[in-house]
Amino acid sequence: MAFPDWMLSLAATASFFCFFCLCVRYRRAARLFWGKLQSRIMARTEKPLFRIAYTLYTRTKLGYLYYKMQMRKAREHYPAGHSTCYPMEFSGIKIIPISVLSDNYSYLIIDTSSSVAAAVDPADPETVQAILKEEGVMLEAILCTHKHWDHSGGNKGLKRLHGSCRVYGNAADNIPGLTHPLSHKDSVVVGRMNFKALFTPGHTVGHMIYLLDGPAVGAPSSLFSGDLVFLSGCGRMFEGSSTTMLSSLDTVSSLSDDTLLWPGHEYAEDNLLFATKVEPHNASRENKYQLVAQQRGQKLCTVRKMHRHCYASQVHHPIKDPCLPAPGETRLYHLHTVLWAVKASRPSSWLTLGFHL
Ligand SMILES: [Zn+2]
Repeated sequence: MAFPDWMLSLAATASFFCFFCLCVRYRRAARLFWGKLQSRIMARTEKPLFRIAYTLYTRTKLGYLYYKMQMRKAREHYPAGHSTCYPMEFSGIKIIPISVLSDNYSYLIIDTSSSVAAAVDPADPETVQAILKEEGVMLEAILCTHKHWDHSGGNKGLKRLHGSCRVYGNAADNIPGLTHPLSHKDSVVVGRMNFKALFTPGHTVGHMIYLLDGPAVGAPSSLFSGDLVFLSGCGRMFEGSSTTMLSSLDTVSSLSDDTLLWPGHEYAEDNLLFATKVEPHNASRENKYQLVAQQRGQKLCTVRKMHRHCYASQVHHPIKDPCLPAPGETRLYHLHTVLWAVKASRPSSWLTLGFHL
C-alpha cells in the first residue's frame, strides 16, 4: 500500500523535530559524540589526504601554480615584505636577509671586494633581482636548500637573467634549474667566500644546508639552514623518519657555538609559543620569547636582532645565551627542536609524546 505524499512529509518533519528535540535535550552528550566522531574521522583521513596534497604540491604543475598564486597574494599583502630586515656586514662580506612570500627569507651573501654574490633560496626572483641591482653586484651562484617551491621557485627566473649563474643543490630533490649537484661536505666558492654544503635529509629527501666559513674572512661562520632548523625549532619531517631528522639535527649541533643561524622562515614566535607549553617555567625560554614577541610586534625580522644579540653575548659576555646553545644549554636547545619535530610528525598527540621525551 502506498502512503500519500503529505503523510510521508509529515513523518519526515516529525522525525526531524524529534531528533532536534533529543539533540537539544542531550546537547552535551551530542556535542561530545560529535567531537569524538569528528576526531576519529580526522585521525583516519588526515594523513592520506595530506599525502595526496603534498604529492600534488611537489610533483605536479599544480604546486607551481599554487606557489605563483601565493607569491602574487604576498606581494599585494606585503608590498614592502612581511618583515623589516637589515643587512649585516663582516670584514668585506655583506649578508642581506630578504623577506619574501608570507614568511620566507631568502639571503644575498655578497663579497664586497669583488662585487659577486650568492643567493640562498631566492624564491621571489623579482625582489631578489631588485636588490642585486641596488647593490650593483653580479649573481654567481644560487644555493638551493630544497625543492619546495617557496625555496626553489625563483631559480629558473634568476638563471634566465644571469646566464652564467650556477644553481647548486642535491640531485635527490629534483631542484628546478639545477646545474651543479652537490654531495655532503662539497665546497662552493664564490669570490672570497667558501661555503660547505651539508646533506641534511628529513624535511625532504635531498635537503642541504650551507655553512659559510667565517674565520677565513675574520667573521663568525654563518649557517643557511633552509627548513631544517629555525630559531627555537626545526622543520617538519615530510620525507624522512625521526631518526633521519635527528641525525641531520646532530649535524647542526656539531657546529661551533658562535655559528650564526639564518633560517628559511620567520617562525621564531610560533616556535617559542610551542616551547612555552612544554617548558612553562624555563626562564631562558621566557627571556627569548619576550625578545622575539617585542620584535614581532614591530614586524622586525627576528634573525637580525637575535644575531646581533647573540654575537655580542658570545664576544663580550660568555654567559647563558638565550639565542644559541651555549655550553650547558645544548640539551635544552635540543629538547625544543626534537619536540618540535615530534609535534610536526604527530600533530594529534604531540603533547603526550612531548612530555615523555
Ligand atoms: Zn620546505
